[in-house]
Amino acid sequence: MKVNKIQTEKNKDKTLRQDTESCILADCSLCPRNCHVDRTAGKTGYCGMNQKVKIARAALHMWEEPCISGTRGSGAVFFTGCNLRCCFCQNREIAIGDSGLEITEERLAEIFLELQEKDAANINLVTGTHYIPQIIAALDCAKKQGLNIPVVYNCGGYENTETLKLLDGYVDIYLPDYKYAESELAVKFSHANDYPERAMEAVNEMVRQTGMPQFDAEGYMKRGTIVRHLILPGHTRNSKKVLKLLHKTFGKQIYISIMNQYTPVFEQKEYTELNRCVTRREYEKVLDYAFELGIENGFFQDGETARESFIPAFDYEGVRKMP
Ligand code: SF4
Repeated sequence: MKVNKIQTEKNKDKTLRQDTESCILADCSLCPRNCHVDRTAGKTGYCGMNQKVKIARAALHMWEEPCISGTRGSGAVFFTGCNLRCCFCQNREIAIGDSGLEITEERLAEIFLELQEKDAANINLVTGTHYIPQIIAALDCAKKQGLNIPVVYNCGGYENTETLKLLDGYVDIYLPDYKYAESELAVKFSHANDYPERAMEAVNEMVRQTGMPQFDAEGYMKRGTIVRHLILPGHTRNSKKVLKLLHKTFGKQIYISIMNQYTPVFEQKEYTELNRCVTRREYEKVLDYAFELGIENGFFQDGETARESFIPAFDYEGVRKMP
């Protein structure tokens, strides 16, 4: 009888969770786009995704910051769709929804556990903003089955603070971008004029949740927030503003990762300045400024590593259950 009662309580929990998830997705305002579409009815908003979770790859990834990938690799799960769809996106095929397979929440939980089995240093949720309720359900399920490595939420920074609050207690490390301090660029490249404000509020909520950065004895991050900034060719002024804003607001509460890996993957007709890589001079100019500001908690990329392929093959590795 006792077992039956526990089972009934578990089923109630599951039903309640599914009801909440459906309720959120039936009038979606998970992110600042506030599309208010019914994704449970198969409709899609700006991110291009309905209720069904779609992923394009789940594998060990060696190219994150050293405290995230280390030598073990980060267990990266690449979600299909994106709420930003920047015109220069390096992962365009998954951002626009062309690549990926539909999976259940139960399979997503299994994938987390399989990555842990492979000795991943953490579970790295790449661009999962539009799937937050489903991710929470999968994490609940995986944690009950022994998932105990840190969870990293890796996103473009265009987040709704209220939605991020749902992740409190589920996410250990936040890894957002802060792309633009200049809203003109946010409009031009990502159709998001309120990006600077929304992303700043989001980082604030992330830091509130994680507190000061913490590392284990091997140097892996256990908790904390790392904010990434990708320098765009011809836009070092924006980069300097970003660094100043982040450093002034958060100081040593965050790590800042300054990236020069921008690679033009297709020809830009309108914004031709994006048709080249960032020059060494541009990168050094931004780094010099970071030193001038006194940024100590930081990561930067050097020389050749910046040119190696950071664009993984979206070949569905790790997506299907192995027989
Ligand atoms: S998650 Fe997608 S559908 Fe929902 S508000 Fe954001 S872009 Fe729109």
